[in-house]
Parts: sequence; C-alpha cells; structure tokens
Amino acid sequence: MSRNLTGKVALVTGASKGIGAEIARRLAAEGAAVVVNYSSSQAAADHVVEDIVQAGGKAVAVQADVSKEADVLRLFAEAAQAFGRVDILVNNAGVYEFSPIEEMTEAQYRRMFDLNVLGLLFATREAVKQFGRDGGNIINIGSVAATSAPATGAVYSATKAAVDTITMSLAKELGPRKIRVNSVNPGMVETEGTQAQGITESDWADQIASQTPLRRIGQPNDIAPVVAFVASDDAGWVTGQTLLVSGGDR
Ligand code: NAP
Repeated sequence: MSRNLTGKVALVTGASKGIGAEIARRLAAEGAAVVVNYSSSQAAADHVVEDIVQAGGKAVAVQADVSKEADVLRLFAEAAQAFGRVDILVNNAGVYEFSPIEEMTEAQYRRMFDLNVLGLLFATREAVKQFGRDGGNIINIGSVAATSAPATGAVYSATKAAVDTITMSLAKELGPRKIRVNSVNPGMVETEGTQAQGITESDWADQIASQTPLRRIGQPNDIAPVVAFVASDDAGWVTGQTLLVSGGDR
C-alpha cells in the first residue's frame, strides 16, 4: 500500500464502528496519526486503536459527543495534545433513523440535525482553526440519500443534502487558504449501525442491491480507500465535490 499520508494527523469522528472505524484504519495504514473519536463505545474505539498500533501506526481514542459544542472543543484540544495539530478532518459521525412522517418527532429531528449537520459544523470550525499554513483537508461523509431521498427518510436525507451544500460553500470559502472540502457519499453499507436497525437483512437492502449496477450493498472497505484518496495530495486539485461511492446506485 502507498503511504501517501505520512506525517499527517487525521481526526475521524465516529470512528469506533462501521465506516468511520475502517476509515481510521485505512488513514493510519497510509501513514497518518489518527484521532479515533467515539461517543459511548469506548471498548470498540480502543480496539480500533489497538489494530492501528499493532500494524505499526499511531492512534489515540478520544471520547466526545460531536453534537455538543463543549465536547468538540475538548476533542480538538486533546487531539492537539496528542499529535500537535490536525491536518485532515473526516466528519463521519452520523445517525440515521427512518420512520413515516406521522411518527416523526422533534427529538428524532434534533438527534439527526444536531449530529449530522451542527456537529459537522462545530468540528469543521475547530479543524479550520487548527490547520496550519499548509492548509488542510475536510472530508464529509454524506449519503446517496441526499439525492435518492428514500421514502421514510425525509429528515435524514435533508441532513445529508445540507452536508452536500455545506461542502460546496466551504470549498469556496476555504479554498484560498489551501483547505480542500469534499463529500464522500456512500450507498447502503453493512455496518454495526445498519445491522442493529435490521436494514441489511431487510427487503429494502435486497431492493437496493438489485437496483445497484454492481448488484450488492457496500462494505466499509469500499468507502475507506476513496476517503484516503481524497485526503491525499493525489486529489490536490479536487475540492467542492460530492463523490458517490455506491456501486452505481443513485
Ligand atoms: P454506525 O455503524 O452506526 O457507527 C456510528 C459511529 O458514530 C460510531 O462510531 C458511534 O460511536 C459514532 N457516533 C454516534 N453518535 C455520535 C456522537 N454524538 N458523537 C460522536 N460519535 C458518534 O454508522 P455507519 O453506518 O458506519 O455510518 C457512518 C456515517 O456514514 C454516518 O454519517 C452515516 O450517515 C453515513 N452513511 C452510512 C451509510 C450506511 O448504509 N451505513 C450509508 C450512507 C451514509 P459510539 O458507538 O461510541 O456512539
């Protein structure tokens, strides 16, 4: 594997499980020191750190609920303490809940918007403050749902459409400071989250697989290498983009 990220420091939110855990492992394998953020699953986050260290990499786990401003400030302070600064932020932490509109609640709306949108903005703000004169790199994990807009997913899809728009706006705002901002938008991926909600075993997953040109749902290791590419200097002329990584589903 190429080691395109040697000397870089990456912070991955929601990296104890699923797509975030695989991104953390991959960025570390490419040479980055990685801050593995988690909210409640300390053992899982420690396991990701152990995997990285055993493979010869550098990582620390830092607890922070990214939807809470004070936690995000502490997360970046602890990242700076551990590795001096952050060069790459992967805004991966996110929640998804699907329900008919008649069952939508304010709490559900707040859970999704507070983490998927507000938390992403808090983390981005703090990362931008830490980036040095060489600029930095922000990769937002959006979703195909931003544009496919599945039934029962109005709130979740709206959070991810917001992420796409934030990506385009911040790429313009931050480009002059050598900060690239892109979204990587997965299709349906088998993770602890989708498994716990019964999504991967559902008729919906079968339907997605059959309408997907590559005829399957994704795995975290379908997403992580694309994030590593976008994080690398090989993608140095790419900003403000939304990259669908979905087997062709859209
Ligand atoms: P997952 O398996 O449910 O894992 C979620 C991760 O986020 C965990 O590490 C969890 O840590 C962390 N997290 C949850 N709430 C948090 C908070 N308030 N602060 C910090 N971390 C928090 O999720 P996933 O399926 O890998 O999804 C990851 C991202 O990909 C999300 O943004 C999701 O919207 C997006 N996505 C997923 C799919 C899919 O099909 N899986 C498709 C498109 C996009 P704790 O366990 O410690 O709380």
